[in-house]
Amino acid sequence: MAGKIKNCPMCGKLFADTGHRVCMDCYEKILEKEAEVVNYVRDNPGAKIPEIVEATGAPEGMIKKMIREGRFEQIGVKMSYPCEKCGKPIITGKICQSCQEDLHKELQKKASAITAAKQAAKSSGQGHGMYSKNNLG
Ligand SMILES: [Zn+2]
Ligand SMILES: [Zn+2]
Repeated sequence: MAGKIKNCPMCGKLFADTGHRVCMDCYEKILEKEAEVVNYVRDNPGAKIPEIVEATGAPEGMIKKMIREGRFEQIGVKMSYPCEKCGKPIITGKICQSCQEDLHKELQKKASAITAAKQAAKSSGQGHGMYSKNNLG
């Protein structure tokens, strides 16, 4: 089964996509870069992402992806990156657990506000509605 022919997003070359999303040349380069990052982190276990980016030239996104994949835990190094909201070190996703909960609560609040507004619009349309309904949450 042949993959789709498309342009490599890294070098622009036409290639048959076999699931790596980049051509074989670039895929090999990525693997090499990943190995370089792993080696660097192994030699510098306390290194922060910006330091790794500078030392290896690997894009930040690649390093975060490797953290999420547990690539550094495999070599016994606990790596983390800052939560995009509060800066707390995290190892998965974009924001930390507590920011995720905050976000979830905010969304729920918004959702229930919308529901309440809809219900209010409905009941006001029927003239005298029941105002004692208390089934929020
Ligand atoms: Zn390529
Ligand atoms: Zn956070």
